[in-house]
Order: sequence, then structure tokens, then C-alpha cells
Amino acid sequence: MRCKLCRKKAIYAPLRFCEEHFLAYYEKKVGKYFQSTHARNVKILIGISGGKDSSALVDVLNKIKDEYGLELGLFTINLQIPDYSEKGLEVGKELAKKYNLPLIIEDLKDHAKQIPAFAGEKMKPCSQCGVIKRYLLNKAAVDNGYDYLATGHNLDDEFFVAMHNLIHRNVDQLRRQQKILPPKPKNKLAGRVKPLYYLTEKENRLYCLLKGIPHDVDECPFSHDNPQIKFKLKHAWFSKDDKKSLLKSVIKLQEPHKEVEEGEAAGQLHDCPSCGFPTTSKDECVYCKVMKN
Ligand code: SF4
Ligand SMILES: [Zn+2]
Ligand SMILES: [Zn+2]
Repeated sequence: MRCKLCRKKAIYAPLRFCEEHFLAYYEKKVGKYFQSTHARNVKILIGISGGKDSSALVDVLNKIKDEYGLELGLFTINLQIPDYSEKGLEVGKELAKKYNLPLIIEDLKDHAKQIPAFAGEKMKPCSQCGVIKRYLLNKAAVDNGYDYLATGHNLDDEFFVAMHNLIHRNVDQLRRQQKILPPKPKNKLAGRVKPLYYLTEKENRLYCLLKGIPHDVDECPFSHDNPQIKFKLKHAWFSKDDKKSLLKSVIKLQEPHKEVEEGEAAGQLHDCPSCGFPTTSKDECVYCKVMKN
């Protein structure tokens, strides 16, 4: 098979691109994200797990940072998961060195609980892990003066979240599933950007392989219970166009409600009496509850 643009050997069959044109396509998609969200001249803290998505994100943001005025930093958490967390941490250090970026490391050994404490016969650690990661990422960004948090969420992740919300009739959450959320410094909330929004997992993996970007290929030992991974395996037959179409429909559904939702969401926030970070609950935030129970 030949590249549809230059007739060299194609290395990415779905779009018929050679290596050079695949890399150009990839960077263009991330540029399109910044153009469509108007995120410019901002400080971005990139949450890295050691996996292909966040590693690809570091490389591509580093490549386009001058064009969009981005000041970058890296953040990673040692979740204290045996045979997994250490490798993620090593990748984080390698990325910081390779791209000469500051790295913040948070270690759950300094907190009341570590992820394996949430695993048991009937317990599945992924939901608590999600709460902890979201909380610590936001805290690191706010405490260190970053405007936005960037995560490696890709088209497949966003499709899963939209489907999950539709199937479970989580209409409010569906309306809030945005590709960018603005910072709310008064509420101690960093903004959220997802620059890989238009790219698939496969494309992120290929980008890492072609560019020799450090990343860990091992799965977390708890991933067999991760609902998102199970969903993706079960619904692997959805095409990239189906996924893009569904997300476009979600954006259309959100438009008439956007301002109302943003206003309501801001009005619902209170300070957690234990840690001072925002929560929609009247008492402690979900992170403080998870760490205590
Ligand atoms: S698979 Fe679950 S426990 Fe493991 S890192 Fe992901 S969310 Fe956390
Ligand atoms: Zn080509
Ligand atoms: Zn709290």
C-alpha cells in the first residue's frame, strides 16, 4: 500500500499515510485542538501515567509549545501499585530529562492510603484511583500556579464516557463533557484541556513508536476490572467516524444548556472543611472521604 499523498510506503493503513505524513497529520490534529479551543499563552501541567497516551502528549505539546505560547510542566503520581507504579515513575523521569521540563512527583506513600488498599474480593480500586488522581492533579496545578491541566484522554476515552453517560442516563454529566474547561481560580480549580481529543489510542501508540518516545507498555494489574477497558474491548467494532459523530452530537446537545450548566456548576461548589479544595457536597470532598473510609 502506498501513501495517498506522496506514494511512499504507507505505514498507517486506515488513512493511507507514510511515516512523514502520519506525523504531520498527528501534529495537525493537536494544532486543530488549540485553534478550536483558543487556548493560547497559558501554563499547562501535563498529567503523565507512563502510558502511550500521556507520553505522546508530552512530545507533541513540546513540539508545538512555541507556536501556541505554552509553558509546560509534568506531573506524575506514584500510586504504589507493585510491579507497575515504579515503571511509570521511571518514564516520567525520562520524559522530564528528554524534553527538559520540570517534573512534580506525588507519592501515595505520603498519604493515608495507597491504591492496593482499595482492592479486595468485592472491591474494585479503579473508581477510588480515579478520584485520587483527579484530586491530586488539580491540587498540583493550583498549588504550582498552572492555568490548565492536560491529560492524555483520546477519542476512544471520550467516546466511552459519552456512551456510558447516555446508557446510564447521566444527562447532567453528559452536558458537562467538554473538550476544554476554563480555569476557576476563585474555586481553586485548574482548567482542563484534552489535546488528543481528535486522536485514537492506536494513533497515539504509533506516534510513540515512530518517534521513540519513552512509554510503558505494561497494563496496571487492576486493569481487568476497569470498566472503561472492558467497554472498549466489547465495543471495538465502532469506527473512528462513528465515535467522532457521536461526540459531535453530544456537543450539539450541550449548546443550548452550556451557560446554564456552567453557572449552576460554579454555584454548587463549596470548600471542603478538611482540605479547603472545592466540592459539590455539603461536607467533606470525595477525596477526603476516600482517604478516611
Ligand atoms: S487500571 Fe484502575 S487502579 Fe490501575 S491505574 Fe487505572 S484506574 Fe488506577
Ligand atoms: Zn506520504
Ligand atoms: Zn477535602
